[in-house]
Amino acid sequence: MAKNEVTICKTFSFDSAHQLVNHKGKCANLHGHTYKLEVKLKMQPNMESNSTDEGFVIDFSDLKKIIKDEIIDKFDHAFIAQGNEPAYEAVRSSGTKICVLGFRTTVENLALFICWRLMEVDLPVYSIRLWETPTGWAEVLSEDVPKNGPYFLT
Ligand SMILES: [Zn+2]
Repeated sequence: MAKNEVTICKTFSFDSAHQLVNHKGKCANLHGHTYKLEVKLKMQPNMESNSTDEGFVIDFSDLKKIIKDEIIDKFDHAFIAQGNEPAYEAVRSSGTKICVLGFRTTVENLALFICWRLMEVDLPVYSIRLWETPTGWAEVLSEDVPKNGPYFLT
């Protein structure tokens, strides 16, 4: 039986610096990206009559606040770091904003991490897509993320 489920999507953006240790190419240098994040949520819209959320999967303004608190405020205009980068100590001692993640900050790993974080705060995540450049993205379906976290955290 069909479940009346609807997928909604909202797009966000943040600017971050990173450095890929052991990378054979230019990503071994400290550099930055304007990341674009697409968050897709899927569920049956709220059926509570006369509620402020009636007919919504989620109020987009509520989703915006959650993404701001969980992702944007941590990542935006920060050095997103594994913690072992050659630039790490110099950046840290300069007082620059750092988000220490503990894993290699490829777009694949970042996408896994973001999808997991949003599942952890009980959003009905269907998938997220993270654009690292205007032509390259990684996508993660929530059904592909282990409940106890991505491979690099376990
Ligand atoms: Zn990069």
